[in-house]
Amino acid sequence: MSWYHESMFDRSRPVGSFWESEAPPLAAGVDLGALAGDAQCDVAIIGGGYTGLSAALHLARDHGIDVCLLEAGPLAWGASGRNGGFCTFTPTGLSIDALTRRYGLDETRRFMRSQMDAVDLVRELGATEGIDLAAQGEGTLEVAHAASRYDDLVQEAAILSGKFGLPTRLLTREEMAETHYDSTEQFGALHLGVGFGLQPLRFARGLAAAAARHGARLHGHSNVVRRERDGAGHLLHCQGGTLRAKRIIIATNGFTEEALDRRLGKAIVPVVSNIIVTRPLSESELAAQKWQTETPCANTRALLFYYRLLPDRRFLFGARGDTTGRPEDGARMSRWMAKRLGEVFPAWAEVPITHTWRGFVCMNMRQTPTIGRMPDDPTTWFGLGYHGDGVSAAPWTGRLLAALVSGNATNDDIPLPLRGLPPRIPLSFLRRWYLLGALGYYRLSDT
Ligand SMILES: Cc1cc2nc3c(=O)[nH]c(=O)nc-3n(C[C@H](O)[C@H](O)[C@H](O)COP(=O)(O)OP(=O)(O)OC[C@H]3O[C@@H](n4cnc5c(N)ncnc54)[C@H](O)[C@@H]3O)c2cc1C
Repeated sequence: MSWYHESMFDRSRPVGSFWESEAPPLAAGVDLGALAGDAQCDVAIIGGGYTGLSAALHLARDHGIDVCLLEAGPLAWGASGRNGGFCTFTPTGLSIDALTRRYGLDETRRFMRSQMDAVDLVRELGATEGIDLAAQGEGTLEVAHAASRYDDLVQEAAILSGKFGLPTRLLTREEMAETHYDSTEQFGALHLGVGFGLQPLRFARGLAAAAARHGARLHGHSNVVRRERDGAGHLLHCQGGTLRAKRIIIATNGFTEEALDRRLGKAIVPVVSNIIVTRPLSESELAAQKWQTETPCANTRALLFYYRLLPDRRFLFGARGDTTGRPEDGARMSRWMAKRLGEVFPAWAEVPITHTWRGFVCMNMRQTPTIGRMPDDPTTWFGLGYHGDGVSAAPWTGRLLAALVSGNATNDDIPLPLRGLPPRIPLSFLRRWYLLGALGYYRLSDT
């Protein structure tokens, strides 16, 4: 069991996100409801976020496989229904230098290309499956939060465009203020011409509707409380029924408990990310910060702030959260974020916050997502650990898992930085303390 407070796992209550108030509900029949009785399928998926839903869609649509998905809460209850909607890349805590040193230039290039594909896939799914993504902005902006950080962006731009052929553009502080916005923590930016903003819950529900339309069976409110071997296959136990499957995919990301899979459960570090959203800003309030962009922004802090203007002119502001999951610590963190928002954008210091929520992003020691097949069990597959960047990486992983499970891809098709299990975390019961140490270190490096 995780060290986080039980309320972080309470699926009986809405998340409280702005997205929930805006997204159309799922059409009747998409979610078949809690699994009841004894069912069977070829491939069972545990977890109904982008990874699981995309795997279900691609297995059913592209490979004609009989697939059944079990989600403990309502579909997309996890990170997929409540993230910041930055459809960006890359899903790793490693710098490009570190990636290249560890995996070589060719594999790093393959990894980067795969994650550009991932962004394209989201747009493509929107178009081919008729999903209204509420897409906004062009590319993404990485904003220097201190004058000294602009030079880092200059170097980063040279590497991204020189070695990886990515479309980059540098903007000085003045250019940013003229064309995007100004703030106390705006000292120029790197524009990367990949990515956009979207409405995450619309996207997730759209994926669910598409998967169901193509024949996948989706069961919300179906927590897999136990799993066991059943001959060559698997038997998954939910409260109201069982599911027999020849193969399974574990797509439970930051909610992966050791009771479900000991190896994965001990290898991940769930980290809380918090979001606050303001009421819609008026034209004059926007003008006071020279705000004139819909492009998603993140700054250069190690514990970064990420922010974007939503279609109805609300401002979304996100940051790393607390380390306990207790409701009072979440509330304290939201107050701190509101204060920081006011410091970074002084003209908005008094603007009321209408929504606050939080959830888990999923980290591991390797600092890259983990995709593959269990070494000791060729019928169990997994895909998780997107390091806070899963809006495009997770659906892409779902598609890859569908190809792997159906025999249309092999292990070699997984770029090396993403392949296989991450290392075990030594003395994994100390994870909260490791996390506290890391956050303390990052806080210091941000001062
Ligand atoms: C606040 C926040 C902001 C974020 N912002 C961004 C962003 O702007 N851009 C970006 O790229 N990424 C962002 N992320 C990360 C991104 O949302 C995730 O990487 C992505 O959604 C992961 O998708 P997933 O399907 O793997 O996991 P999830 O969406 O978390 O789904 C896993 C599901 O598994 C279910 N589950 C767990 N155990 C069981 C079980 N035993 N039985 C049945 N079901 C089970 C859970 O209930 C959960 O719904 C953010 C995350 C958070 C929390």
